[in-house]
Amino acid sequence: MGTVGRTRPIPDPSQFELFSVAAEPAKPLPTQPERFRRGPRHHPQGLVYDLQNCFDVINEVMFKRELLQPVIRWSRNRWRYTLGLCDVEKRVITLNTSLDDARIPEMVVAGVMHHEMLHLYFGITEGPNGGRRFHTPEFRAAERLFPAYVKVEEWLRDNWPLRGRPARKPRPVTGGFLSYLAMMHGATPEPQP
Ligand SMILES: [Zn+2]
Repeated sequence: MGTVGRTRPIPDPSQFELFSVAAEPAKPLPTQPERFRRGPRHHPQGLVYDLQNCFDVINEVMFKRELLQPVIRWSRNRWRYTLGLCDVEKRVITLNTSLDDARIPEMVVAGVMHHEMLHLYFGITEGPNGGRRFHTPEFRAAERLFPAYVKVEEWLRDNWPLRGRPARKPRPVTGGFLSYLAMMHGATPEPQP
């Protein structure tokens, strides 16, 4: 008797200083707003591919880290055809969770991510008749700069959409297309002064 409801100590305001006086080192910004963490399918870390790693490598190699962190996530549901979406105004990139499949080459996931990142980069262009244009000639030209652009297009033409059971097993982080891309980029010699 008398202890129920008192299992936690009563807060002592003088103790709060313990937590606020010592200047805390600046915390790194969370890469994903908390409100978007709604389970595995709405998260950048899929069962096979990690979209955050994909974004980071492409941002480094193709955009010189110019793109600010958007919200990145796998779609909650499996879409039949759509590969990815980018909400330019809200800065949300969503990739079809059907691509989180070990039968999908990593270069394809990377190619789709690159396309969506270009939407962030170029934004929305006004067309000659006032309409909104997304895939401008500049966009298409930049898209073709992606190292595996032709291979990705060919693979999608021949294989997408996949049929049958998804293969949901994690891939090794090293040895794939992205690690190769990062390595090649890192190996580029700096111009000598
Ligand atoms: Zn597009």
